[in-house]
Amino acid sequence: MIVLQNISKYYYTDTSVTQALRKINLEFKIGEFVAITGESGSGKSTLLNVISGMDAFDDGEMFFCGEPTFQYDAADWENFRRNEIGFVFQNYSLIGHYTTVENIKSALLIMGYQEEEATRKAVTYLEKVGLKGLEKQRASELSSGQKQRLSIARALAKNTSIIVADEPTGNLDRETGDQIIQLLKELSKDKLVLMVTHNYDQAEPYVTRKIRLHDGEVVVDVPVNEQDESV
Ligand code: ADP
Ligand code: ADP
Repeated sequence: MIVLQNISKYYYTDTSVTQALRKINLEFKIGEFVAITGESGSGKSTLLNVISGMDAFDDGEMFFCGEPTFQYDAADWENFRRNEIGFVFQNYSLIGHYTTVENIKSALLIMGYQEEEATRKAVTYLEKVGLKGLEKQRASELSSGQKQRLSIARALAKNTSIIVADEPTGNLDRETGDQIIQLLKELSKDKLVLMVTHNYDQAEPYVTRKIRLHDGEVVVDVPVNEQDESV
């Protein structure tokens, strides 16, 4: 559903040019749970940003559901980000003084949902991530794990086929992090979930694919935990 062909991306500063992505070729499908690994500066965030339409790329082509994106203008990219991508961030990106429900609703109202429908969906998705009963709680009053669950509920409520998670367990203890990865794993049954992680060992039991970047290039791209290992 997402295809990257020879994608290159440069960052220009006054004094230098950094090539953050070097001719990346990748294909992603619904049902995949992909761990994106690599040392700091290898291009992981840039790759996620390009795939989610947050960063423009310089060379190559990206296809979304078979459709090339070269003709997208700024408004098309904005629609793509808004309607096709659910974002989960390391620092949650919640509005602290809003309740859990309001945090989800605000994203839905921006998408054009009506008030009632937005509330209904918000409550449904809170339940889905295990936050039932916390509808009136302010986001700032949640534990770290609950905050990440809320940010996942917000991403889910958008009903996108792609979830992009940048270090979703970065601020969580091991056990809480495991729970969050399990939740993402469940979601990947009918979505594409792309997760940047510094802690591949923790993610390994759950993901279906490992991608490793080095200096802007894909140096590892292998399936993990393949179902059919029985002989
Ligand atoms: P990672 O997420 O793996 O740490 P990044 O995608 O953030 O890597 O960065 C890839 C390369 O691009 C690095 O060399 C980084 O310094 C450079 N880079 C990232 N963002 C910018 C920016 N806004 N301006 C200039 N260089 C950048
Ligand atoms: P212009 O060169 O006239 O600014 P572009 O189509 O290159 O027009 O970009 C318009 C806006 O769309 C830019 O602000 C850029 O951030 C965004 N944009 C362009 N290409 C991409 C892309 N591949 N991913 C995300 N945003 C993009």
